[in-house]
Amino acid sequence: MTELRKTICNRDCPDACSIVATVEDGKVTRIRGDKDHPVTRGFLCYRTSLFLSTQYSRNRLTAPLLRTNGRFKPVSWEEALDLAAERLTSIRRESGPAAIFHYRSGGSLGLLKHLSDYFFEQFGPVTVKRGDICSGAGDSAQETDFGEEDSNDVFDLLNSRNILLWGKNVFTSSPHLVPVLRDAKARGAQLVLIDPVCHKTSILCEEFIQLRPGLRSSRCLRVPGAAPLRSGVVPGGRRRA
Ligand code: SF4
Repeated sequence: MTELRKTICNRDCPDACSIVATVEDGKVTRIRGDKDHPVTRGFLCYRTSLFLSTQYSRNRLTAPLLRTNGRFKPVSWEEALDLAAERLTSIRRESGPAAIFHYRSGGSLGLLKHLSDYFFEQFGPVTVKRGDICSGAGDSAQETDFGEEDSNDVFDLLNSRNILLWGKNVFTSSPHLVPVLRDAKARGAQLVLIDPVCHKTSILCEEFIQLRPGLRSSRCLRVPGAAPLRSGVVPGGRRRA
């Protein structure tokens, strides 16, 4: 029996795509972007388009691996859970729960991530990270600008006169932003790309400012004002800060 099921992409990605999966006899045989979803607009990014070959790959890890003498060997889930439970309880007993460091980030996003937070809260309190090595700067900027860490509505960009793309190649890291940026340009927005590397996103932009790696952060913060910076024209009419 063949049926179409709507699902979602669980990757750590701001596009948060809606997926239409074709399921035949209990196996997903095709995935495509949901045409009805306002952000997805019927297409998926390159990596998720290839997701099924990973999902059903013979090389996919489907069992826990135990490292012994530098070699990995598959073990049952019961064995792996017993081992983890024994190690965690003995560390807590001997050194206290703070000796355990729980670190996680995004990767795939789903409720199970919060379950691990909940588990270690109940088990500990254990040591956790403060700040973020990934999106902390963006979260902080979001809170400063909008009072909320959650992302603002992507379609609000259509109300912008100037859009600054800082260190972001939207064609690879946020492909569903591309049509929104094109719409914003059609409404008169000016796009500026700031990046040490010249990449495809520059074709969307009126200006590309190429920062030298190692530039002092105080100078970076002055880039939006641009005027006080010494800058030079680089090939293609781009400015180098
Ligand atoms: S762009 Fe790709 S990774 Fe991001 S949500 Fe859509 S399908 Fe998933």
